[in-house]
Order: sequence, then C-alpha cells, then structure tokens
Amino acid sequence: MTETLAIGAYTDDDTAALRDGFQAHGIAGPDGIAAVDGGLRATVRAVAFKGHKSFGAAEMDLLPKLGLIANYGVGYDAIDVAAASARGIKVTNTPDVLNDDVADLAVAMLLMQGRETIQANDWARSGQWAQKGEYRLNRKMSGGKVGIVGLGRIGREIANRLVGFKMDIHYHSRQEKQTPGWTWHADPVSLAQSVDFLFVALVGGPATEGYVSRAVIDALGPRGVIVNISRGSTIDEAALLDALESGRIAGAGLDVFRNEPKIDPRFYALPNVVIQPHQGSGTVETRIEMAALQRRNVAAYLAGKALETPVN
Ligand code: NAP
Repeated sequence: MTETLAIGAYTDDDTAALRDGFQAHGIAGPDGIAAVDGGLRATVRAVAFKGHKSFGAAEMDLLPKLGLIANYGVGYDAIDVAAASARGIKVTNTPDVLNDDVADLAVAMLLMQGRETIQANDWARSGQWAQKGEYRLNRKMSGGKVGIVGLGRIGREIANRLVGFKMDIHYHSRQEKQTPGWTWHADPVSLAQSVDFLFVALVGGPATEGYVSRAVIDALGPRGVIVNISRGSTIDEAALLDALESGRIAGAGLDVFRNEPKIDPRFYALPNVVIQPHQGSGTVETRIEMAALQRRNVAAYLAGKALETPVN
C-alpha cells in the first residue's frame, strides 16, 4: 500500500530511496495531486515535499489521511502551515544541515560583487588582460561595516564568517541576542544607516513580506550592497531595482527573487548585481544530508515515533 507521496524533482538516488524505503509514488508538483488516482490518494499518510510551488489547504484536502508534510529545505513558506495545523497535519523541515553552504554562498556573493570577480574573469578570458593590461581597481571588502537582517541559524553563520574578514558586525532581530562585540539594532532602518553591506537571512512568507523596505534600502546609501539568500519576498523588489538602476545603492548579490526562475529582466541589465540561480544549499554533500533528514522524518512519522525536526 502506498502511504507516501513524493512531490518534486528528486535526484535518481533520492527517488530510489523514497521508492525502496516507502514505496513512494512520485509526482512533479502539488498542482498534480488532483490527477492522482483517488484510491491512492486515500491511502497517503505522508508527503515528501520538494519545491517552491504552493502547498495549501486545497491540496491537503485532496489527501484525507495526510498526517505529515516533510519539506526538503529549511524554508517552508510554500506550505500553508496554519492550514496544516488546523487539519492536524505535522510539518517538518531540514534545518542546520545547509547553514554552511548558504552562508558560504552569501559571503562569496559579497566578494564577487565588490571585487568584480565575474567582470575580472571576463577581462582575462577575453584577452583584454594581455591586450590592455591590468583590470580596473575595485573595492576593499575586509574590515567593512556589515549588517545582518535576521540573525537565525544561517544569519549567525554568515556573521561568524565575516568576523574572519575583520568586519564590524551589526544585526537586526526582534530581540537582542547573546552576541558579545556585535551591535544590535531594534529596527532595520537603523541597521541599514549604520553599515555598508547588508545581508538578508530572514524566513520568507507573509510575516516578512517586503521587510527590507524602500526606507531600509534608501538608508543603506550609495556605497551600500545588499546580499539576499533568504527569499525574494523579503525585499521590496521594485524599490531594490529602482535603487540599483539609479545608483542610490552600489550593488547587490542575489540568490533569490520574486517570480523565480522567471526573474524581472531589469536585473539582467545591471552590471552591479551578482545573480545566482537559488543555489544556496546546492552542493552534492548538503543535498544528500537534506534528503536523508527529510526521509528520517517520513520514517519516524510512519513508525509513530517522534519527528526529528518538527515545524508545528
Ligand atoms: P531561522 O534560524 O529560523 O532564522 C530566521 C530569521 O528570521 C530569524 O532571525 C528570525 O528573527 C527572523 N524572523 C522570523 N520571523 C520573523 C518575523 N515575523 N519578523 C521578523 N523577523 C522574523 O532560519 P534559517 O535556518 O536561518 O533560514 C532562514 C531562511 O533562509 C529560510 O527560511 C529560507 O527561506 C532561507 N534559505 C535560503 C536558501 C537558499 O538556497 N538561498 C537555503 C536555505 C534557507 P529573530 O532572530 O528575531 O527570531
């Protein structure tokens, strides 16, 4: 009997593990649940969910015995957790195992933006280094003033790395944390006014929609660089594009966007933006860990044991 529905695009190894471990039935996205045979839908107790398409009340109601949505990823903003809780459905995610990779990419994007590594690479490869000489001078990053919006698991890993770059660390979170030597700001505008580099590491979802507002972006100023590894929804993207186009801030490093992967084409015209295709956790090693944690949650639920990483 099939008790597990695997939703999303999994690697061959993960597909085999879901099939061998749980006899999982696979579909591409939550919008495909209605097309699954009704008899099979009636037996599904657990969903292994991967992707960013919305999994809401309507999808849940197509699976009458559903008791678990095990998300592949720490960010579960695609899942309507309130609707799940109201139906007695548990949600799990994959925290911590991806912190290092996401923080690595965040710091890499700052360095790529400031040191113009993409343009400098093009300069060398296109023969201009040999023909015209040295690449133009760019910007020192070490020792700068940096702000983190959202000092959670990933935000803290970003800050820890930036200590190694001798940066002056500031942050905004809803309450001050145990952070000797770092400066807490009660509001994000005050944070942006105090720093040149601003990292966004918030959760996504309605509560943080547009949290990095036009006022925050303007407070950063013309030497400001924004790095976002959270969700596209956390920044007022129209305000960000305006500020980048008009030079009201210096640049950005962005791994996440509204409407990704069909991002606003205005980004492509901006040489001061480093664009990454939402690949923060995208290493072979970390994706293996994320998939394994997702499956441990499915196994625990089906065996009636405690969930390893519950959300609700
Ligand atoms: P986390 O430990 O839960 O930290 C989330 C941060 O968001 C906390 O600092 C928290 O603030 C803040 N926050 C939560 N709700 C808020 C609200 N209503 N208003 C203001 N701030 C709020 O999460 P994490 O593990 O670091 O992950 C953060 C996010 O990164 C994920 O949710 C996901 O969307 C994103 N992510 C992206 C990638 C990628 O590939 N680019 C990979 C993994 C994760 P407080 O400190 O005040 O509690």
